[in-house]
Amino acid sequence: MQGRELRGELDAFLAEAERELKAFRRDLHMHPELAFAEYRTTKLIAARLTAAGLFPSILPRGTGLICEVGSGDGPLIALRADIDALPLQDEKDAPYRSTVPGACHACGHDVHTTILLGTALFLAQQADAGLLPGRVRLIFQPAEELPGGALEVMAHGGITGVDRIFGLHCDPRVDVGQVGLKSGPITSACDKLAIRVSGPGGHTARPHLTADLVFALAKILTELPAALSRRVDPRSSLSLVWGRVEAGTAANAIPDEGVAEGTVRCLDENAWHSAPDLIKALLESVAAPYGIEATMEYTRGVPPVVNDDACVQMFAEAAARALGDGSVVPTQQSLGGEDFAWYLESIPGAFARLGTRSPESGVTYDIHQGTFDVDERAIAIGVRLMTNTALTALFGQVTEPGSVPLAQHA
Ligand SMILES: [Zn+2]
Ligand SMILES: [Zn+2]
Repeated sequence: MQGRELRGELDAFLAEAERELKAFRRDLHMHPELAFAEYRTTKLIAARLTAAGLFPSILPRGTGLICEVGSGDGPLIALRADIDALPLQDEKDAPYRSTVPGACHACGHDVHTTILLGTALFLAQQADAGLLPGRVRLIFQPAEELPGGALEVMAHGGITGVDRIFGLHCDPRVDVGQVGLKSGPITSACDKLAIRVSGPGGHTARPHLTADLVFALAKILTELPAALSRRVDPRSSLSLVWGRVEAGTAANAIPDEGVAEGTVRCLDENAWHSAPDLIKALLESVAAPYGIEATMEYTRGVPPVVNDDACVQMFAEAAARALGDGSVVPTQQSLGGEDFAWYLESIPGAFARLGTRSPESGVTYDIHQGTFDVDERAIAIGVRLMTNTALTALFGQVTEPGSVPLAQHA
């Protein structure tokens, strides 16, 4: 299909559907559901897809769903949206503010969900007209904020057979109509670490008869991050920062146990993979001279989202075609985490930042705040972007990196 023809069809579709999509988003916004409790949201999405003649499959827990559009032996492209809300109070003064105390779509997942629904409805029309040269798998993922929903999707074959996967996230610092793209890492890793130390306690008058545990713990607190900074590439920005430490109850008694907890943040995927073993080895060598027992509990968060170059190029071409030449803007790697990263550990894909700031309002919101809101024009723009991206990937048309022509489909 010609690019211009597709644009015309999307115009016609959105002229009809945009009002319904906005209402759908507002309904989700008024009824936010937390991670792995998205039962109502799941049912609403499934019902709308079914009404469009599609066959959604709800994940075994009853939250989140997967639905395929199209048929045939062509490529299989996945588009993913997350559907969960955050456990915080909605502080907006809007008619569609949350009706659930302590729950709010403050990360824009209601918008992501609505965009994917709109994309599904349009692609279903295309499939009916015999215009899809492959299949598009729509993944409405639960529990991104936990995180863990991506692993749940993968555990049930959600990306099995998928050639490429695409996702997006609202970016309230980018104007509506623009799309932030970046090759390579675009989010970061954040893990949790707890270290427990133990050894014989006693009177502070006789530290030599004890393991002098508080002193040894203090050594770990300072030496471990210092040693770590000399053992990993500084460009990976791997940092261990303590947030909690506890040992002892009296000024003149050496305790027999203590604990330190902190986070490990990292911009680089390779450094993230090697971090637990490296930190454990360093901990053992720092603790050894003091005769204490030191154990480490390392809780993995998510790896960084590392965008595939070719997939970013597909996003860029799709954005240029759907939204105009000036629509793609560069974006930075953030220190936040995003569990879309789990998919990209297995298959190539890309994650984009969708502008949601209203240039007229002059207000810049932030995600994970009770005041967060979006310029709802971002919904139709997101549908245009994801539709064009899926079709670009399906038709396998990638031009040379750096060129973003308004290429035609075959
Ligand atoms: Zn979030
Ligand atoms: Zn989010």
